[in-house]
Amino acid sequence: MSGKVKLKRFGCVNCGSHFEVHPPDDLHTTASRIEKECEQSVKMDYECKSCGKINTIHWCRRSRYPDWYA
Ligand SMILES: [Zn+2]
Repeated sequence: MSGKVKLKRFGCVNCGSHFEVHPPDDLHTTASRIEKECEQSVKMDYECKSCGKINTIHWCRRSRYPDWYA
């Protein structure tokens, strides 16, 4: 619960396999599939290990939402 690295778990949009994503830095710690949920975000692509599908995750800058927002 108190680790510095906050892993997020997403399901592959193609096959449903779960994969873990890591925040790119300390400022962008809220992950979303929807870019418009963020005022500023870092786009990162993750390749599913099961099917090779690229899953795009947007990391939101932590300014408007507290940590518990997910
Ligand atoms: Zn997949």
